[in-house]
Amino acid sequence: MSAFKGKTVLVLGGSRGIGAAIVRRFSAEGAAVTFTYAGSRQAAEQLASDTGSTAVVTDSADRDAVIAQVRASGPLDILVVNAGIAVFGDALEQDPDVIDRLLRINVHAPYHAAVEAARQMPEGGRIIVIGSVNGDRMPIPGMASYALSKSALQGLARGLARDFGPRGITINVVQPGPIDTEANPADGPMKDLMHSFMALKRHGRSDEVASMVAWLAGPEAGFVTGAMHTIDGGFGA
Ligand code: NDP
Repeated sequence: MSAFKGKTVLVLGGSRGIGAAIVRRFSAEGAAVTFTYAGSRQAAEQLASDTGSTAVVTDSADRDAVIAQVRASGPLDILVVNAGIAVFGDALEQDPDVIDRLLRINVHAPYHAAVEAARQMPEGGRIIVIGSVNGDRMPIPGMASYALSKSALQGLARGLARDFGPRGITINVVQPGPIDTEANPADGPMKDLMHSFMALKRHGRSDEVASMVAWLAGPEAGFVTGAMHTIDGGFGA
């Protein structure tokens, strides 16, 4: 497969889970892929070696580091912002610094990375941000900060689609439901509750999300922008 041969791709947060599947997909299809990670050095080095991609340390909580990495990687044909975290617990008890860090990783980094990428991006460029079905629907307590952060990405995509559309650059959000990763294992304690909300009673796979990302990044999706693309097994149906 060589659908992305000659394309330059940056994946923010690519060492594990959904991000790693996205790195594998673009690498397998011929792209030159760089990905960032924060803590999982061993996983990042293994993935880079397996796929021929390049791993670099960049903490998405550090705005200036994210902007510098995007600038250094450009001009990009495709930017994927995948890095994201969740914190759980009583909103009245949570440390505000923890919440602000979540917002830096989940909201500030995608915004600044997308803007910085667009400075050098050629016509036909693609920006894809990994949101969540929780941007549309949050059926349980204790995750308001996460829901807030994923809803914010919807406004980001709608607004920047207007800013960059005249240059032929698209920006879209992929909104997964429960996907089997270390952050949300298919055999974890929440599985039965999550499956009770879903039409398909299983977790999704990271490669299923990577397939949607690849479609949005490819030539068939040239007329798709400013939109949310939900892949959730019917969680939000
Ligand atoms: P994982 O926790 O399994 O992996 C997260 C990835 O993001 C890792 O590669 C991690 O790298 C990286 N990352 C996390 N924080 C930072 C940071 N501060 N700087 C740089 N990289 C960082 O998560 P998932 O694969 O499950 O989730 C990926 C995305 O998909 C997230 O945005 C998440 O919100 C979203 N999502 C996931 C769902 C699920 O059910 N799994 C459902 C809906 C959305 P490292 O370990 O090296 O720090």
